Amino acid sequence: MLSHDTESSPSSLDLRSLSHEELLALVTELGWPSFRAKQVEDWLWKHHVSSFDEMSNVPAALRKQLAERGTLGGVSEVARQVSNDGSRKYLVEYADGTRAECVGMPTRNRLAVCVSTQAGCRMGCVFCATGMGGFSRSLTATEMFDQVTHVADDFQTRVSSVVMMGQGEPFNNYDNVLAALRMLNSPNGAGIGARHLTVSTCGIVPMIRRFAKEPEQFTLAVSLHSAVQATRNQLMPGVRKYSLGRLHEVMEKYVEKTGRRPTYEYALIGGVNDNANELDALCDFTRGTLAHVNLIQLNDLEGSKLKPSTTEKAELFVRALASVGVEATIRNSRGADIDAACGQLSQKHK
Ligand code: SAH
Ligand code: SF4
Repeated sequence: MLSHDTESSPSSLDLRSLSHEELLALVTELGWPSFRAKQVEDWLWKHHVSSFDEMSNVPAALRKQLAERGTLGGVSEVARQVSNDGSRKYLVEYADGTRAECVGMPTRNRLAVCVSTQAGCRMGCVFCATGMGGFSRSLTATEMFDQVTHVADDFQTRVSSVVMMGQGEPFNNYDNVLAALRMLNSPNGAGIGARHLTVSTCGIVPMIRRFAKEPEQFTLAVSLHSAVQATRNQLMPGVRKYSLGRLHEVMEKYVEKTGRRPTYEYALIGGVNDNANELDALCDFTRGTLAHVNLIQLNDLEGSKLKPSTTEKAELFVRALASVGVEATIRNSRGADIDAACGQLSQKHK
């Protein structure tokens, strides 16, 4: 078995789903010396070619053999929107017609990319456009990698960080997500430092436990949104079965094991999770942990009754958390004017 994308792989072999060793094995099997594999690899990973003909230093006979064996995968862009703040949102399509969204967010000399891990999401969080839009399928590792490549090529610059905060729940697609993180991290891939690769989960407890055991220093963010069980059940019905107690416990273990600082994401929703009782619960949940709290004023969703809290409320939360020793910041969303901000990547183009 050459491909390590086991879940939902397209039928033909995408050469970029091969590891270094697998590609070498293929080229050798086809009767070529190993340096040819390195050349092919450079075209795939450094130059992001979309056709075999562009591999100019690779013999035509080998190009033909490779084309018979597989494809170069890749995405085609279906639509794009450019935000006033310079962010660009892309709707991309894969060979089987599945579509996903990704966003490039430039700041001076850095470029952050927000990647989708699934087309749609099964978790059904009530404040999230993706959650309300249904689910098509999980994405393979190369499909996630291709989003990053697409954005890098468009901005003509290297990507400095990746957040898996687009459509989908990464920990419902664990193996492919890990494979994608490793491709992004690898010097043969995008060469992005593990600490600059962030996974955001709605809190799938067994997978957080597993993630803690991975050797790389990837960054973890957990969507909390309420530390009151009843409120969280309402907002995030898909993670009802993983109670806040279990989440707290597994996060304690995560910090103990990795020594890494996790982030809790908390979208402030007016009259829902921004009252004194909610604030007390949030302080209790995070006090004495290493965690950082990211407060996000809810991004408006079309047709939703949920509205963002006021800035005063957000500032009150920051002060109260600071008074119990918890670091918190108010994150301003990028690309809000193009529906590219967190939770607004829906499949409405479908
Ligand atoms: N499924 C993962 C990652 C994708 S969602 C997760 O839930 O963590 C990325 C982030 O956007 C999550 O923190 C999510 O809770 C948040 N989000 C979703 N809808 C939002 C909205 N309308 N306003 C602000 N943040 C939102
Ligand atoms: Fe899925 Fe995350 Fe949206 Fe919840 S917030 S529906 S887990 S993408």
